[in-house]
Amino acid sequence: MKLESKLPNLETTIFAVMSAMANQYNAINLSQGYPNFKSDEMLMDLVHQAMLSGYNQYAAMPGAMELRRAISKKFERLYGSSYHPESEITVTAGATQAIYTAITAIVKQNDEVIVFRPAYDCYVPTIELNGGKAISIQLSKPDYTINWVEVKAAITPKTKMIIVNTPHNPSGTVFSKQDMLALEKLTKGTDIIVLSDEVYEHLIYDSVQHQSACLFPDLKSRSFITASFGKTFHNTGWKMGYCCAPKALMEEFIKVHQFNVFSVNHPMQIALAKYLEDENNYLQLSEFYQKKRDLFLSLMKNSRFKFKPSKGSYFQAADYSEISQDNDLEFVTWLTQKKGVAAIPISAFNLNKKDEKMIRFCFAKTDDTLTQAAQILCEL
Ligand code: PMP
Ligand code: GLN
Repeated sequence: MKLESKLPNLETTIFAVMSAMANQYNAINLSQGYPNFKSDEMLMDLVHQAMLSGYNQYAAMPGAMELRRAISKKFERLYGSSYHPESEITVTAGATQAIYTAITAIVKQNDEVIVFRPAYDCYVPTIELNGGKAISIQLSKPDYTINWVEVKAAITPKTKMIIVNTPHNPSGTVFSKQDMLALEKLTKGTDIIVLSDEVYEHLIYDSVQHQSACLFPDLKSRSFITASFGKTFHNTGWKMGYCCAPKALMEEFIKVHQFNVFSVNHPMQIALAKYLEDENNYLQLSEFYQKKRDLFLSLMKNSRFKFKPSKGSYFQAADYSEISQDNDLEFVTWLTQKKGVAAIPISAFNLNKKDEKMIRFCFAKTDDTLTQAAQILCEL
């Protein structure tokens, strides 16, 4: 039998590689992005109650109406932007499925999709699985700013989609209002669809406002917004997320969603709907994580790593060029195996694995874990 791979050059995701290495070498795992503390017990109780109350069969295909209403309310409250729960919101199995489904619903053979690198690692393979071509715009340390003139030059008649991600994984940068206005201006009057990956919308620091695509009317009219409850409520293993988009876009999304998963975990949807009623459950997250960022940066201040403080997400990008001239994959391998701290090499997200001597630490960890890790890192 001859098996022709659809993704012949694809390697195993760096998150699986680094977490396995961290486990094998018993290293402190600051690599894959997930909290090492419990999520709210009240939320777990709500899931249990939902199971006992009988929410154990298929949910409605686009998601339980309770949850779609709660998501809609959150958009109203936070951004004054309305998404109709009946036709403009779908609950997904994590943001990963929302991203996969949005790209699959839109991108056809030979379509071009503009992606800013470093980019979260599921975007490009999904574009390629659909026969599309990723047009990468490589950003550079330490600020990873976008030159919108360069973006304009990258747009061709084949450009079908532009993918943006703010707050940004892995750099911890955020888009300014000017960035969003530039994106809006560039796409206005075109047929370009925007995929705005906003999984870290509630993890944003130093009183900066999250610039959701829904705040910009023309941008909103052409955008899929993807979000993750795993990021928001400290339970990445639940794989719960959602997508919002104007009706016409959501109709296309749903066509793929219904045969991709049909519907997702029902009791968790009911629990999340209840939990979202109290806005403090998400509004206090920035303060909570800003404390962790500040603790980590203060513990690391005498290290030889160079930092620009993360502005959002739960990642801190770090320049290790004063410590080693190894490439970033070699450096994190040594760091994990010989020193006992695992991190992510940012080249994994770059075009052609460009090595800028940058790695990513996840600070969604207990204060004890951050303290132990920083002690080791400060000795390098
Ligand atoms: N987008 C970005 C930028 C991410 O960092 C992640 C990882 N959490 C996802 C999407 C996927 O989210 P989920 O775990 O909900 O699938
Ligand atoms: N989003 C997480 C990260 O960036 C990992 C998600 C995953 O492992 N697929 O580390």
